[in-house]
Amino acid sequence: MNILILGSGGREHAIAWAVLQNPKCDRLIVAPGNAGIAQIAECADLDILDGDAVAGFAAENAVDLVIIGPEAPLALGVADTCRAAGLKVFGPSAAAARLESSKNFTKAICDAAGAPTAGYAHFTDLAAARTYLERQPMPIVIKADGLAAGKGVVVATERDQAQAALDHMFGGEFGAAGSEVVIEEFMEGEEASFFVLVDGETVLPIGTAQDHKRVGDGDTGPNTGGMGAYSPAPILDESVAQKALDEIIRPTMREMARRGTPYSGVLYAGLMIRNGQPRLVEYNARFGDPECQVLMMRLGGQALDLIQACAEGRLEGMEAHWADDHALTVVLAARGYPGSYDKGSVIGGLDALEESASAMVFHAGTALREGKVTANGGRVLNVTARGETLAEARAAAYGMVEAIDWPEGFCRSDIGWRALPGAV
Ligand code: ATP
Repeated sequence: MNILILGSGGREHAIAWAVLQNPKCDRLIVAPGNAGIAQIAECADLDILDGDAVAGFAAENAVDLVIIGPEAPLALGVADTCRAAGLKVFGPSAAAARLESSKNFTKAICDAAGAPTAGYAHFTDLAAARTYLERQPMPIVIKADGLAAGKGVVVATERDQAQAALDHMFGGEFGAAGSEVVIEEFMEGEEASFFVLVDGETVLPIGTAQDHKRVGDGDTGPNTGGMGAYSPAPILDESVAQKALDEIIRPTMREMARRGTPYSGVLYAGLMIRNGQPRLVEYNARFGDPECQVLMMRLGGQALDLIQACAEGRLEGMEAHWADDHALTVVLAARGYPGSYDKGSVIGGLDALEESASAMVFHAGTALREGKVTANGGRVLNVTARGETLAEARAAAYGMVEAIDWPEGFCRSDIGWRALPGAV
């Protein structure tokens, strides 16, 4: 089977790594890929936001399955163009990916489906939004409607802060993504991520994870794309997972199908859990990054069977088989991230690391220069390990971090703290 993965992050490195463990995979191409991916797969220079270019490339290379990693090509309809060209695709249509690309759309779907989520109001006008805000209790959450790479959400504890967020969003800070704004009730609780595959009808759970959004230890400092993750998430136990499936995810999927836009691909539900009751924070139409890295490490080669069955509408009766284990990933980022940072520093020590099915360094923002791995982005490496316990996975991941020689990089030292409070 010939497989094309779209994307260039740690998420796509992890998917490529898992797919390659399955003997079904004959040829793997990743577009555009990165320095780590280039060590295990062919990389192709392709504009992944151009559906025609992707479909043409896939046809020329006899690709049997296209796996779309990031949200941007999904929102632009690359999956639709590829499906129309007769390709098998893992990833939702643009209409179904609106569950990620429009927060107002998702709130309306949740209303129709009766799915528990935060109360909200939707505005296209600054004056009306400001008037509404004056009557709301604090804290409150202000969200730009469209995709804003995780930066379009402000959790405001003070009214001034909330007003400033509204001014910025309607003032054009996020372009068209901020021309509509959702004001949401603040939900208390602990967050966790639930991942399911959906083939239009069948919903198959494939794991849980918790990430670490803030840049600093103890969840301090600005938000990032994610500084680390672990799986499973103890807070998302069987009872909470069942409630999330029955009350949130399945009703949403039925509503999407009823509207003629069935969902196909991985669905990532961000949940706020309090007293054993989950409420939806957000949906994403793709794997989280870095949550994908820990899920792939636990799934291994069966990830391809599941992804293929999802793309072919054959999920009914399938199961994800878990080893009773844990995985944890630590993100190494360039100093300065999520603000400005330098590129080009050389990362040493990688060759000496012993990588295995239980220990991998997935590359995110890296490039190869004169044979050396160099930093080429904000989040640069995802040091990922598996263990019988979370403590073992954590010790193994931080052991690898210590062996990496990169003075220009940094990481959080407390990944896993919620699940291992005494150990961190
Ligand atoms: P990302 O995809 O990067 O997670 P996003 O831009 O899609 O972010 P959300 O996930 O909706 O935005 O919100 C980002 C974060 O803000 C959440 O992970 C959560 O911590 C917090 N948050 C969002 N909505 C609420 C809410 N109603 N109550 C409490 N916290 C919230």
